[in-house]
Amino acid sequence: MAQTGNNGFRHSTSLVVLDPIVRKPATMTQQFASDNYAGTCPEAWAAMQQANAGSVAAYGEDEWTTRAANAFRTLFGTDCEVFFAFNGTAANSLALAALCQSYNSVICSSCAHVETDECGAPEFFSNGSKLLAARNNSAKLTPDVIHALATCRGDIHYPKPRAVTITQPTETGELYTLAEIQAISTTCRSLGLRLHMDGARFANACAALGCSPADMTWKAGVDVLCFGGTKNGMAVGEAIVFFDKTLAEGFDYRCKQAGQLASKMRFLSAPWVGMLESGAWLKNAAHANGCARQLERAIAQVPGITLMFPVQANAVFVQGPEGFLDRLRAKGWRFYTFIGGGARFMFAWDAQPEQVDALAADIRAACA
Ligand SMILES: *Cc1c(COP(=O)(O)O)cnc(C)c1O
Repeated sequence: MAQTGNNGFRHSTSLVVLDPIVRKPATMTQQFASDNYAGTCPEAWAAMQQANAGSVAAYGEDEWTTRAANAFRTLFGTDCEVFFAFNGTAANSLALAALCQSYNSVICSSCAHVETDECGAPEFFSNGSKLLAARNNSAKLTPDVIHALATCRGDIHYPKPRAVTITQPTETGELYTLAEIQAISTTCRSLGLRLHMDGARFANACAALGCSPADMTWKAGVDVLCFGGTKNGMAVGEAIVFFDKTLAEGFDYRCKQAGQLASKMRFLSAPWVGMLESGAWLKNAAHANGCARQLERAIAQVPGITLMFPVQANAVFVQGPEGFLDRLRAKGWRFYTFIGGGARFMFAWDAQPEQVDALAADIRAACA
């Protein structure tokens, strides 16, 4: 039945349902401001659709969730404890909270997402554990930096260091080599510190280094990993993987208390089955990394262009001559400048190579 609103237009009281397959909404031209601009990849989507069939048990007591956790155990080749959270802020914060008492501290880079982009959630969920940000002017921590921060004070007035968090790849798109991770974990062990890895783009690191998830984590001494699903091509969801199972004690309660226990858990876990069992997690990441390299190749030699960080994963950070960023914006490109003031471009599973070329051409033009 149609009504006439007081603006004079007739509008229907029935819902208009668009068929998402047939009728594509008007989308903007593809942008590379964030890997979170991408949609859901087919493998994750298909698993969601399969999980939508019929009714299953709630709160993770379902077969999808068991299968997803087992897929992680297979992927890592070890009997780890696996939990699912809605986003990376929760995953990181709760993982760190599990490692710390409220009077402890966590050593991190000054660029770390936990430090700069989580609105104090790590401190909040740990009831006050303080982040100790390194001042080494790099997104990467080193054994020396960790050692200095962990030993600069030993008195009762200072929050006692208990954990180290590293981001792999870093917020600046750089990688820790396996040897670097191993050296950091050795330092951690010698200082009685636990090692957490923020792997919001963990798949990109595995694809870039060509090493196994096991080599990158527990075999190199990582105690707990937050494995990003969202930026890897899922609609939503991160996994928290405890390689030292004793650290996972009570973590299910921690998740519930933090509002991170999905009641219809299958929709958080099934996409992981789709991603891991199909290999899409690695394929997506390799594609994204390839697009970053494509942009790097296309602009590296352009006069006036500076690549701010080595391009090692799916990020490219660009600085140019006076007015460069404004000219790039005027051409319609969106990007963040919160790291170092240059333009950040992030590529995801769906990045179109032609669009990467279009960006490169506009970057060249913006330098001329
Ligand atoms: C995106 C990201 C996260 C997670 O962010 P959410 O928006 O909370 O999902 C965590 N760490 C890093 C390094 C990230 O880039």
